Amino acid sequence: MSEQVSIQWFPGHMAKTRRLIKESLPLVDCVAEIIDARIPKSSRNPELDALCSSKPRIVLLNKIDLADPAITERWVEYIRKSGAMPLAVDCKSGRGLNKFLPLVKELLKDKIEQNARRGMSGKKIRVMVAGIPNCGKSTFINRMAGSKKLKAEDRPGVTRGTQWIDLGSGIEMMDTPGMLWPKFEDPTVGENLAFCGSVKDDVIDIELLARRLLETIAKTYPDFLRARYKLNGELPEEGAELLALVGRKRGMLISGGEVDTERASAVVLDEFRSGKIGRISLEKPDMTESGQ
Ligand code: GDP
Repeated sequence: MSEQVSIQWFPGHMAKTRRLIKESLPLVDCVAEIIDARIPKSSRNPELDALCSSKPRIVLLNKIDLADPAITERWVEYIRKSGAMPLAVDCKSGRGLNKFLPLVKELLKDKIEQNARRGMSGKKIRVMVAGIPNCGKSTFINRMAGSKKLKAEDRPGVTRGTQWIDLGSGIEMMDTPGMLWPKFEDPTVGENLAFCGSVKDDVIDIELLARRLLETIAKTYPDFLRARYKLNGELPEEGAELLALVGRKRGMLISGGEVDTERASAVVLDEFRSGKIGRISLEKPDMTESGQ
């Protein structure tokens, strides 16, 4: 196996975002955690379990349009067994989102009944969205909000500036999502996030990343690579060889007939991230913590 992509994370904002989440939690009844269905382990925040222990949780497996449907199903079961409420969604097209409000109501059933018994059936259930960068928080909020108006928080003593979106069905959502950080100390996590485009490409070695991605896909979804890049027979194990093959097939050559590996790398990464290579999941539920 070749060297691993290493990514430098700058956790300068960690303390601040942790504090913001802690301040917001008392204002809400449940948390909707958004993760990337292609990398459900790598896209989770390591501290959210501890931070939100008191609040019921919906885990939104987002970007299912890009993930392997059979593996997404297994993740749904895995998350359900772990005690959270899973929902597989594609926030880009809106698929699955119609189940969100019914799920919140089911999750908060006891609270809603309690409110009714106390004569407060008009009291809204409040939800906060949280997730690491690029998981789809804004896309989710925009989709759910549609053209609904924001309502400024006017209760005294509550964090200024908090706005609530009335989603109907007695549910309100905080308009600003909780920004979380990933498990940046784990190199496998960093690599998975980089594959999925959740790390700025200017801080990584694109060619190394593309080689690593090709090695991974050649092991797990070789037929997708064969079909997309018209490759036949056994695929080489080495990422560099795979990249050269792809570059040649696409005619990405520089003078002297050498493959333009930089261009080929950009193409491979772009085609993976946009789902053109296929619906690929990089993590399965039975993998160990490091994703191996
Ligand atoms: P945030 O940083 O968590 O707010 O993430 P964004 O909402 O900005 O989304 C990051 C990127 O993922 C954007 O390019 C979105 O268009 C894309 N995205 C979000 N949800 C989905 C999805 O379900 N499917 C696909 N294919 N792309 C998505």
